[in-house]
Amino acid sequence: MDIRLTADETAFRTEVRDFLATHLTERLRAGARATPTVFAEPDIGREWQHILYEKGWLAYFWPVAFGGTGWTPMQRYIFEKECALAHAPELPGLSLKLLAPVLHRFGTPEQQARYLPRILSADDYWCQGFSEPGSGSDLASLKTRAVRDGDRWIVNGSKLWTTHAHFADHMFCLVRTNPDVKRQAGISFLLIDMKQPGIEVRPIMGLAGDHEVNAVFLDDVSVPADDMVGSEGQGWTIAKFLLENERGGSCHAPSLLADLDTLRAAASQAPADGGGTMADDALFIAALSHAEFAAQALETTELRILAEIAQGRPPGPQTSLVKLVASNLKQDIGTLAMRLWGPAGLQLPTERPLYGNAAPEPILNAAAQIAAPTYLNNRAWTIFGGSNEVQRTIIAKTVLGL
Ligand SMILES: Cc1cc2nc3c(=O)[nH]c(=O)nc-3n(C[C@H](O)[C@H](O)[C@H](O)COP(=O)(O)OP(=O)(O)OC[C@H]3O[C@@H](n4cnc5c(N)ncnc54)[C@H](O)[C@@H]3O)c2cc1C
Repeated sequence: MDIRLTADETAFRTEVRDFLATHLTERLRAGARATPTVFAEPDIGREWQHILYEKGWLAYFWPVAFGGTGWTPMQRYIFEKECALAHAPELPGLSLKLLAPVLHRFGTPEQQARYLPRILSADDYWCQGFSEPGSGSDLASLKTRAVRDGDRWIVNGSKLWTTHAHFADHMFCLVRTNPDVKRQAGISFLLIDMKQPGIEVRPIMGLAGDHEVNAVFLDDVSVPADDMVGSEGQGWTIAKFLLENERGGSCHAPSLLADLDTLRAAASQAPADGGGTMADDALFIAALSHAEFAAQALETTELRILAEIAQGRPPGPQTSLVKLVASNLKQDIGTLAMRLWGPAGLQLPTERPLYGNAAPEPILNAAAQIAAPTYLNNRAWTIFGGSNEVQRTIIAKTVLGL
């Protein structure tokens, strides 16, 4: 396996860098830098989405038949890394990276024609309705019930931790259509219009005061039968396909390396106890270097996975290893940022967003202001997309054969 860039890949990287230099505005970069949550607020996320759409680079991981760019896995990686290093806002991954591949694989031609173009154009904003009270790690126990009534499904139940449901006009959702069979076999996958009677979205405020997740209540919600993806009872198969994409669809190293880049640059501006800057603090620099080595090792692993994907081999349980390492590293980087900024890192503004004209005035600077909210929001990394304990169980079973 050779993971060095070829001449063509180097030229491609230059093309991406040139594009970012001219099209990724300072407003968007500042917005992304000042976002403590996992997802970007829709205002900057959508603006960046439109720019990439115009360029034809938005669907960079979709098959060409559906409007994809036809890039190799390595080109996709280069693109993601350059976007991260340039502080581009996160794209709405729930629709672009999770739902779209499901529609490509399991959707009817009508569903593909109806939903995929509106995902690209950002006309539709999606949320993911999988988890429920008592059904997170043990997802197959979910209880939200859908009962067939003529050409519609009537849905009752509730979803929990639904990211950006307060912005979404659609939700892809797992529902129980048959309670009398093996629990996995009784689950189906529905596309639900959120703007209809019977849907209530209640906010859940995060530790840092961010409104990112919600509880969603469904009370006699009516869904056309045509909006079931796959067949009745195929939801678990589809969910497994989607969760594999959630855990392994994107590389984590680019954004971790970008975070570390930012920290290293900031070290020479952060005051140290007793004078000088944190760049002179040997213990801090050693800890930072340790995290950088870990991120570089993760990058090598991710590039190895990409090389395997390019050979047509599925990534398999390595995605669990990557998710586990990346989540821990993300939290370690958040801890380093708190250490870097010292007392100024303890400020916890309650206003949002932390960018734009109405943003609160930072103590010391914007990077110090974002440290505590990011640290607190990062707690979620070892929970969502399969908690660390769940990943370790997968690794124990599938890699170690325990
Ligand atoms: C910020 C955030 C955003 C999210 N966004 C979404 C979203 O948009 N849509 C969505 O559907 N869900 C979302 N989730 C939910 C997420 O997928 C679940 O929180 C996750 O699957 C864990 O489920 P749970 O919260 O029910 O915890 P539980 O499953 O109850 O777990 C509680 C604890 O027990 C441990 N545990 C559970 N089972 C085992 C086991 N078998 N062995 C060992 N330890 C175990 C877990 O590791 C954890 O430490 C989000 C979560 C967060 C934090």
